[in-house]
Amino acid sequence: MEVVGKADSPCRIFLAYDHHNFPAYMSIRVLDPRVAQQVAAGEVVDRPASVVKELVENSLDAGATRVEVELGDGGTSHILVRDDGAGMSPEDAPLSVLRHATSKIENISDLEAVTTLGFRGEALASVASVSAFSLTTSTGEGAGTKVAVEGGEDARVSPASHPKGTTILVDRLFYNVPARRAFLKGARAERAAIVEVLTHLGVAHPSVSFRLVEKGRDYLSLPHAGDLLERLAQVHGVARARAMRKVEYESGAFEIHGYAALPSVTEGSRSSQTISVNGRWVRAENLTRGIDDAYRATLPSGRYPPVALRVEVDPRRVDVNVHPTKQVVRFSEERAARAAVAAAVREAIEWRPPPPAATPRPTERPYTQESFPAYRSPAPDFGRVAERRPDYSPPTRDLDEVRERLAEASKPLSEAVRQEPPQEPPGASVPEELPERGALPRLEELRVIGQLAAGYILVEEPGSLWIVDQHVAHERAILDRLTDAEEGALPTTQSLLVPEVVELSPGEATDAAEYLEELAVYGFEAEPFGPDCMRITGVISTLAGRDVAGAFREALAAAKGTGPGRRREDHILATIACHSAVKLGDKLSKEEMEELIKSWLTSRLPATCPHGRSICFRLGVNEVARKLDRH
Ligand code: ADP
Ligand code: MG
Repeated sequence: MEVVGKADSPCRIFLAYDHHNFPAYMSIRVLDPRVAQQVAAGEVVDRPASVVKELVENSLDAGATRVEVELGDGGTSHILVRDDGAGMSPEDAPLSVLRHATSKIENISDLEAVTTLGFRGEALASVASVSAFSLTTSTGEGAGTKVAVEGGEDARVSPASHPKGTTILVDRLFYNVPARRAFLKGARAERAAIVEVLTHLGVAHPSVSFRLVEKGRDYLSLPHAGDLLERLAQVHGVARARAMRKVEYESGAFEIHGYAALPSVTEGSRSSQTISVNGRWVRAENLTRGIDDAYRATLPSGRYPPVALRVEVDPRRVDVNVHPTKQVVRFSEERAARAAVAAAVREAIEWRPPPPAATPRPTERPYTQESFPAYRSPAPDFGRVAERRPDYSPPTRDLDEVRERLAEASKPLSEAVRQEPPQEPPGASVPEELPERGALPRLEELRVIGQLAAGYILVEEPGSLWIVDQHVAHERAILDRLTDAEEGALPTTQSLLVPEVVELSPGEATDAAEYLEELAVYGFEAEPFGPDCMRITGVISTLAGRDVAGAFREALAAAKGTGPGRRREDHILATIACHSAVKLGDKLSKEEMEELIKSWLTSRLPATCPHGRSICFRLGVNEVARKLDRH
């Protein structure tokens, strides 16, 4: 046999193995149906959580209002799912465990408009082939039925009493498929996966009550919720639900409703992001990317705000039959789907100035004139960026909206507030709470007092003193302008009066030559200038007069160090914002500070530093009085 590839490549190892050890021939045989079923079962169920998902989805399809799950050893020894749904008749019950037995579709054309979660008729047959399985069910009329199946053998059917609904017991999952069983993790990890699945299903179906118990302990308890926000309050606690903004969006083929948290509230994994498509909870990578697009440049890496979205789309434009677990869906227009999710979430979490026509003229707001004397900032020219965008009006016009949003952020959550938030399930990630909009100074009432240690701006608001990190606040404001640009459009570039020569290491110089074209997209007009030097003649307007050399070097490193695409763009823009911003140690005039504070507080997401750092904190006058023993 000829060996291809390098001497040490896996290819060669494989061929060598193939050559010497592969058994000569196995004759082809048609698998015993039971074995075939056990093999196929692996596609539908691979761990207790996927069993729970299938069984609970059946309960939901049966119209249950209450679903209870009981576990033994995190589902590895047993799983019991009980519902109060429609149940099955004595005739139907034995059929339900047969492969391709379903009450939900009849013809392939039905798939186009399927509204149930199941339709493949595979789940019960699969689960019953790899466990000691039994179901007891009743329609509430006449006798109930029990159907027991041991490892895929023939079903034993007997009469049994049961209230209207169905109870399914899955004992010793994978007892007859040791290879699968070996892949199960410990009880804790399997239980955590079940909590996650049930939480997603709970968010996708707020009106159904869900409960998960093991050894008498509640791991999840979601009583019937009046609406999605109430369910989110049950899941995430009232405080975090309060930081969620309503999503209401319609465009083209897509209608999207739900809630998205402000970027100040994040968790360490995506598990708090639930998306359903036409009522089905899905894991659609493309839609998740849409969420990421909406939050870009507002989150520290690895943090995810809770989001719950219901996407409605013409069923003919989405294929749910891509994978046996029906969790992967494919859209006829994948890009449009992602863009719709991004736009829907962005609209909810951003504060956008309304069109100028609907807004009173700035002269009608005396406080803007009083608090902020007209001042032209020499370097970061936000005005120019603003002018380029027709839907963007200068920040000073929209303070009423800011005020409204701030007030809204601190409103009590009408319904949910009365409900105690449930205990965090063990092992759930601890959320990181950053100040949200409610915890920001109110622009219209503040007065800049001065600067502390050339790094912190002191701002007085009636009753309190705010201490603002000047670098982080400025960085936020600039990044906002950079990333708020329409797709591909960035603020104008500005020629430097005196070109800046940047010295580079030989390695950096080689990279610079390679990435020059890409960096030009971000406004860097640069050319080689002698060995290992670059002459920069123009930059994005925010960067003019600031740390041009530092920004160029870091943007180069960012371009080189990250793969192409959005993340890379984010990285480069963050670098530019960071180097455009005033630094700790920069002495600022009162006007400069006022301008900075104003552009920060009128940015879309003033409470979030791009790196997740705090931007400001408040010192109440009461606290000051206390410190001075004035009780
Ligand atoms: P599918 O959900 O794709 O139809 P399943 O194997 O999951 O296939 O279920 C087979 C059938 O058994 C369903 O179509 C339904 O008629 C019935 N069934 C399963 N679980 C329940 C339940 N909890 N309540 C009522 N009927 C059920
Ligand atoms: Mg099903």
